[in-house]
Amino acid sequence: MSKHNVGEAFSAGIGLALGLTMAQCMSQAIKPPERIIKQVIVCLRCGNKNPVENKFCGQCGQSLYPPPLTQCSKCGATVPSNMNFCGNCGSPLKEVKKTRKKRS
Ligand SMILES: [Zn+2]
Ligand SMILES: [Zn+2]
Repeated sequence: MSKHNVGEAFSAGIGLALGLTMAQCMSQAIKPPERIIKQVIVCLRCGNKNPVENKFCGQCGQSLYPPPLTQCSKCGATVPSNMNFCGNCGSPLKEVKKTRKKRS
């Protein structure tokens, strides 16, 4: 009867919906990941940028962890020497070679 027809149409509709969601998932999976700014550990030996999870440099095998420590010249905090800025006071640990603008 008509009931049967309705059921068929209903299931067909579900199939179509599923197909659509599948396609959407597929396109999302294929879509390249957005630019994620990941913290990297720069190898002190070769300068290769390694993901923070790395314990050894993927380029030369240099041990990355624990990183060598250095002391902040401003606040005296002990910080990893591969950091660019002191985690305690935020002052730059490395001499940034940029055009120094002297403000007087
Ligand atoms: Zn290296
Ligand atoms: Zn500091």
